[in-house]
Amino acid sequence: MIDTHAHLDLDDFDHDRHALFKEMHELGITSAIIPGISEHQWQRQIAIATEFNCYFALGIHPWYLPQNIEDSLTLLEQKISEQQGYTHFVALGECGLDKLKPNFTMQLELLSGQLKLANQFNLPVILHAVKCHQELCDLLAKHPNPKGGVIHGFYGGPELAQRYINLGYKLGIGGLVMNPDAKKLRKTITELDIKYFLIETDSPSMTPSYVTEKRNTPLHLPKFVSEIADLQKKTTVFILEQLNRNAVQLFEL
Ligand SMILES: [Zn+2]
Repeated sequence: MIDTHAHLDLDDFDHDRHALFKEMHELGITSAIIPGISEHQWQRQIAIATEFNCYFALGIHPWYLPQNIEDSLTLLEQKISEQQGYTHFVALGECGLDKLKPNFTMQLELLSGQLKLANQFNLPVILHAVKCHQELCDLLAKHPNPKGGVIHGFYGGPELAQRYINLGYKLGIGGLVMNPDAKKLRKTITELDIKYFLIETDSPSMTPSYVTEKRNTPLHLPKFVSEIADLQKKTTVFILEQLNRNAVQLFEL
């Protein structure tokens, strides 16, 4: 089992990262993809991914908008060239749009630049999308990427899901699936083919509502898989195999 989106490089895990990876392995969670968030974190992120045998992506998250977008995109291009061919390096991201955060125009500029880089380097994209689906769909249509990517932390209904699928993207399903009130998302998972989904926790964020600890960890992943299996009316083994296959295929793991 692979957690396809976990920020295990963040300080939240500094005090118990070794113990956490040991527990993950005991639960059958063999690896994770650590997405990039900011140029200031890339070096540390790559070091941790290498030490703990994880995959990683490089990108700039819309919450960490740089002062000078052009300079940061140049740095990102250099960093990607350096890492290209390294088997642990699998995608461009995390990038995207977030209407709940400031400077939407700058976010659009930063995302366009990153979508161009993804095409230039033949990489799939890990996308963060909050309340911006029209703008994001327009931008993805404008920069078609044959490698596709994932709309991580997807929370929408079947129609929105289908729009992203038509553009060549998969949907990253996280802890929200455990929330009985997340009706749109649960409908999406019930109705669409399992081949369009990836499984993720977004640790340390997006802690499922049933968990009392504030910090989210990949240890919750098996519960999400059984919930998806229940919604799809399939066995957990079947769902797990398919989810693994989807991740291996998209990120060429
Ligand atoms: Zn993330």
